[in-house]
Amino acid sequence: MPMRLVLSAPAKINLTLDVLGRRADGYHEIASVMVQLELHDTIAVEPASALEVECHGAAIPAEQNLTLKAAQLLQEVADCRQGARIYITKRIPIAAGLAGGSSDAAATLLALAQLWGLEGRLPVSLSELAARLGSDVPFFLNGPVALAEGRGERLTPLPPLPPRLVVLLKPPFALSTAEVYGALRLDEFSDGSATRFVAQEIRAGCWPPPERFFNALERPASRLRPELQRYRAAFLEAGAAAVHLSGSGPALYSLFDERGAAEAVYQRLRQAGFEAYLTTTA
Ligand code: ATP
Repeated sequence: MPMRLVLSAPAKINLTLDVLGRRADGYHEIASVMVQLELHDTIAVEPASALEVECHGAAIPAEQNLTLKAAQLLQEVADCRQGARIYITKRIPIAAGLAGGSSDAAATLLALAQLWGLEGRLPVSLSELAARLGSDVPFFLNGPVALAEGRGERLTPLPPLPPRLVVLLKPPFALSTAEVYGALRLDEFSDGSATRFVAQEIRAGCWPPPERFFNALERPASRLRPELQRYRAAFLEAGAAAVHLSGSGPALYSLFDERGAAEAVYQRLRQAGFEAYLTTTA
């Protein structure tokens, strides 16, 4: 019987995203508290003679798919001749700041290392491979809650938090992470204090108050897409008490303690024609 492995690849939100400075290598130095969500893609892998990718739910060409890059990198460093069929079921909105592509890549590394029997036999760690694929990829080998530093690849796990309901609003446009970082002004760099405070609260076992969440990319993202403010206003009008941008956006999120309140906001957004999701933190 050929082995088939199925893994969940969760989305993430950033409670904070401090951009501390620009590095000589062109990346930005960040400090961020990230939390995984129940909203997830599904990655299934099976043995095959070559590498094949089938993506359901989104039109991402196989050759551009980060899961294929993850599989090729693993083959290369392990000098592995085995192939695999990779099936992706996409549910996480694409290019939204929810890191779906990064999460799919991390799940692919984990699944193929197991399928190909490479665990414990790799010359480099999976975290190192994940960092080569993208700054957000290593987080998905950690979590569900972590402090990310460096360009995002240096992770310190934080204690898990009691689950909270999350409503997401995905405006009908994409934002490129590189473009948003490129639009960041020098006076929008921050000192990391928001992230330090939020991480400290989580270490003490509490959900930090949403007014202490912070995202240095909010202003550059809004300059690139001024209509982002309309979506934020609609979210507040639908009943959310506080609305935050995830990563480089454009996805907006709000946290809720009560299912009834979260469902009411979610339903109002859907009825008004917005792309909205109701999920929980992991
Ligand atoms: P991040 O927060 O890490 O910047 P994001 O949520 O903004 O991520 P993703 O959905 O991860 O963005 O994808 C960004 C780009 O990567 C898209 O333009 C998409 O074409 C490409 N991509 C490649 N593989 C995938 C995949 N499996 N899922 C989603 N996007 C992918």
